[in-house]
Amino acid sequence: MTLEEYRKKRNFKVTPEPAGRQKESRRSAKLPIFVVQKHQATRLHYDFRLEIGGVLVSWAVPKGPSLNPADKRLAVQTEDHPIEYADFEGVIPKGQYGAGTVIVWDKGTYEADPGSGSAAEQLSHGELKFNLHGKKLRSGFVLIRTGLKSAGALGQRSWLLIKRQDEYADPSWKIDRYDGSVLTGRNGK
Ligand code: MN
Repeated sequence: MTLEEYRKKRNFKVTPEPAGRQKESRRSAKLPIFVVQKHQATRLHYDFRLEIGGVLVSWAVPKGPSLNPADKRLAVQTEDHPIEYADFEGVIPKGQYGAGTVIVWDKGTYEADPGSGSAAEQLSHGELKFNLHGKKLRSGFVLIRTGLKSAGALGQRSWLLIKRQDEYADPSWKIDRYDGSVLTGRNGK
C-alpha cells in the first residue's frame, strides 16, 4: 500500500485534490473509515474506498454500490489514495487525471469480519468481508477478486462488490434515489 502511483498521476499545482502527507497516516485507535465518491468523469462511476494500512484502498464501481444482494457490481481496483481524500469534493480541472466533479456520496466507518483475518490479510487473499456503518450503505458486504493472473494487468484488478443478505438488504435498490453529498448536500451532476 503506497501513494506513489497516486502522486505520479497528478499535478498538485493544478488539481485541488490533496497530495497526502509524506508518511501514510496511522489512526489505529479508531475504527477505519470508508468513503464512496460519485465521480462525474469521462464516464460516471463511484469510487469505493476502504482505509487499510494507512491509505484508502480504492475501486472504481461503474454502476455504484447496491443494497440488493442480487447485484454483483464490477469494481476495478485503482491506485491507493491518501486518507485526506475522504473529504475531497470539488472539480478536477480539464486536462488533469480524472477531470470532472467529485462529491462524497457516502462516508462512515467499517469493520472487517472477525475470524477472516485483518482487512489487509483479506485483501491479499482476494476476498474481503466487512460491515459498513454509513448513511446510505449499511451492514454486510463482500469484495471478491475475480481477475486472474492470465487476464493481464487490468483483468487482475477486477473485483465484484456484493451486498450480503441481512436486514439492510433492499431488493428494490435504485441508486438515483440516494443521490447527493452526505457532507454538503450538493448533487453530483
Ligand atoms: Mn474516480
